[in-house]
Amino acid sequence: MAANDLASLGWNADLVQAFEAHAEKGLVPGRVSLEHNHVYRVLTADGEWLAETAGRVKYEAAERRALPAVGDWAAVRPDERHGRRLIRAILPRRTWFSRKVAGRTTEEQVLAANVDTAFLVAGLDAPPKPRSLERYLVLARQSGATPVIVLNKSDACEDLAAARRGALAIAGSTPVETVSAKTGEGLDRLRSWLRFGQTIVLLGQSGAGKSTLVNHLIGEEHLATGTVRAWDARGRHTSVHRQLLVVPTGGVLIDTPGLRELRLWEVNETAVDTFADITSLADECRFRDCRHDREPGCAVRSAVERGLFDAARLEGYLKLERERTALTDRQNALARAPQGHPQSAERSVGPARRTRRH
Ligand code: GDP
Ligand code: ZN
Repeated sequence: MAANDLASLGWNADLVQAFEAHAEKGLVPGRVSLEHNHVYRVLTADGEWLAETAGRVKYEAAERRALPAVGDWAAVRPDERHGRRLIRAILPRRTWFSRKVAGRTTEEQVLAANVDTAFLVAGLDAPPKPRSLERYLVLARQSGATPVIVLNKSDACEDLAAARRGALAIAGSTPVETVSAKTGEGLDRLRSWLRFGQTIVLLGQSGAGKSTLVNHLIGEEHLATGTVRAWDARGRHTSVHRQLLVVPTGGVLIDTPGLRELRLWEVNETAVDTFADITSLADECRFRDCRHDREPGCAVRSAVERGLFDAARLEGYLKLERERTALTDRQNALARAPQGHPQSAERSVGPARRTRRH
């Protein structure tokens, strides 16, 4: 298997420093490119390796966040057993996308890590869905990645100017690119985000054109080799698509199942950015805990009545607020519960710091 230039995968001086202690133990750095039934593919300077985590870590479902995710930088033991290496630790994540895992407890499953830029793709062949775009914006900002709104299928849009205006009204400082994966229009501007060592994900509703865009950005001839052999739960071989792709002209694309239908893990202060107009008005409500429902002296309702912003936008904000309250309640309940799970010594993810650019 060909050697990888770690710098083209995003390896940098900060990571070298974070890796020092692992290097002293003889571990080797690699970036996780595929996860399938708890078996991982890791791109290292010595080629692509198959790897597993220590058995114990695997079953500690209470800390799913600690499991390696596509895009993670891992510290791997170079010696192999039965064709597999061992992932001993994960370097602190700079940014990450995660989702709530259904179940009795609230768990966080990381779907992609160390993403620099998130393309939020919407198809212009269908009526615009501003609420949906707002939610993707919130998700992207929470991850720590920089969002870029990509309006695809410009060839199928009657009034491009109006579509752009609609997106810009929501975007704030977020760039809006208008492209057509069909005609190639605007794809060069998208490519300018795919710089050497930069990692990009594509989010957006099914049918928006994400796969088509990925094909164009990677180049069809490289996609032909995009399928690898992996293992199902019974150890049989199956074919799986690569989840992390190195773009020949520079940049890394991550496309993992599950990432496309992200659910909110937490809605924190970054949501305030997206709904800054509403939250600043809320300061003027008579009651500090105003729910902007039927309370007297509600500045938000009165702004809607005066037509300052539309009721649907307020609904989007309130829905997000309700989710946030529900989640905070659950997290508080979890925090009060007795600590039943032993902490794994292998775990080094820790409370990684998120970098936010907005
Ligand atoms: P995904 O679900 O987001 O991955 O969407 P796909 O890439 O599968 O695209 C959905 C459909 O939209 C396919 O039939 C594509 O051929 C079509 N499509 C993608 N991009 C464009 C575009 O720029 N213009 C037009 N007219 N159709 C497109
Ligand atoms: Zn109010």
